[in-house]
Amino acid sequence: VFGGFASHALASRIEDATPTLIISADAGMRGGKVVPYKHLLDEAIRLSSHKPANVLMVNRGLADLHPVEGRDQDYATLRQANMDTVVPCEWVDSTHPSYILYTSGTTGKPKGVQRDTAGYAVALAASMKHIYMGNPGETYFSTSDIGWVVGHSYIIYGPLINGMATIMYEGLPIRPDAGIWWQLVEKYKVSVMFSAPTAARVLKKQDPSYLTKYDLSSLKALFLAGEPLDEPTATWIGGALNKPIIDNYWQTETGWPIMAICNGVEQAPTKFGSPGKAVYGFDVQLIDETTGEEITEANKKGVIAVNGPLPPGCLQTVWGDDKRYVSTYWSSIHNKVMYSTFDWGVKDEDGYFFILGRTDDVINVAGHRLGT
Ligand code: AMP
Repeated sequence: VFGGFASHALASRIEDATPTLIISADAGMRGGKVVPYKHLLDEAIRLSSHKPANVLMVNRGLADLHPVEGRDQDYATLRQANMDTVVPCEWVDSTHPSYILYTSGTTGKPKGVQRDTAGYAVALAASMKHIYMGNPGETYFSTSDIGWVVGHSYIIYGPLINGMATIMYEGLPIRPDAGIWWQLVEKYKVSVMFSAPTAARVLKKQDPSYLTKYDLSSLKALFLAGEPLDEPTATWIGGALNKPIIDNYWQTETGWPIMAICNGVEQAPTKFGSPGKAVYGFDVQLIDETTGEEITEANKKGVIAVNGPLPPGCLQTVWGDDKRYVSTYWSSIHNKVMYSTFDWGVKDEDGYFFILGRTDDVINVAGHRLGT
C-alpha cells in the first residue's frame, strides 16, 4: 500500500487482505521531512479485527521503533541470520495470485484488485516492447510510488521482466531543486521515463532552465498517464525537453494500458488530448448510457466499456468477493455483460479516444445528472 494512508484506511485493508505477515519501513521521506509509519501501523493493527502473526520491520534509522514483543521482527537481524539459506524456486499455476492492490476508490469497503502471475508478466513484457519501447540493458525511470499501480507495473515488474535497470526515486520533483529528475536521467542514462501530468504542471511553475541543464540524449520519450493531459502542459514539457510526450490511459484494475500509441507494433502519430487508440487485447466500445447500444458515430460521447474476456494482466476478481467483481464491473451496462471503466469518452474519425471524466462523478441538480 501507499505510505500515506491513515490508520483507519490501513486497518480496513488489513482486515480485507488478512495478511499473515506485514512488511514495513520505520518511516518514509517526503519533501525532506520524515513520515513515520510504525505508530500508524500499530494503530491500524489495533483497529483491525484481523491481527497478522508477524510484522517485519525494515529500520532505515529515520524514526523511533517500539517493537511489539513476539510479533515484530527486525529485517537486518533476520537477513544476517539467514544469509546462506538456499531458497528453491517455487512453481505456481499461471493463475496463481501475485498481489492485491487496493483501488483508490473513495467510498465503502476498499476493493482489492487481484492480479494473476503469468498473464500479468506476459502483458507487461509485451507493453515494454510495443508501447514503452524499452530495450534490455537500458534504464527505465518511473516517478510513481510503488504503492500505486504504475509503481507495481512500471517501477518493479515491467522493467525487470524486460531486463532493464529501474530507478526507484523517493521524493519530490523539486527537491533539492527542480532539476533532480533530469540529473538522474543524465547520471543513469535513462531511456524511458514515465510520470503524471500533475508532475509536469508542478515543474512548469519552476525555473525552466533546469530542463536544459543536463544531458538528456539517452531519453527517447516521456510517457504520462493517470489523468487527462491538457494541451498546454503537453506542449510546454515536450518543447522544453525536446522529446516526444506520449499519453496513455489505464486503471489499477487493468494493470497496463487500455489506450496508447503502440509504436512498437506500428508507428502512429500522437494527437493532443488523446491517449491514443485501443491497445490490442482490449475490445473497447463506446456505449450509450441509456440504451446500452454501441456508439459508432465519431465524436459522440459514451461510456468506455470493454467486451470480455479482458486481456492478460487485468484483474482476476475482487479479492475475496467474486460477486462484487461481477456486480461492480460487469453489471452496469444496460442489457449487456461488458466491463465498464466508469469513464466517459469520445472517439474521433481516426479511432483516437479522448477521455472526458468519470461517470460516477456526477452532480444531481433538479433531477438532471451533470457530469464533470
Ligand atoms: P486509478 O483508479 O487510480 O487507477 O485511476 C484510473 C482512472 O484515472 C481512469 O479510470 C481515468 O479516469 C483516469 N486516467 C488514467 N489515465 C488517464 C489518461 N491518460 N487520461 C485521462 N484520464 C486518465
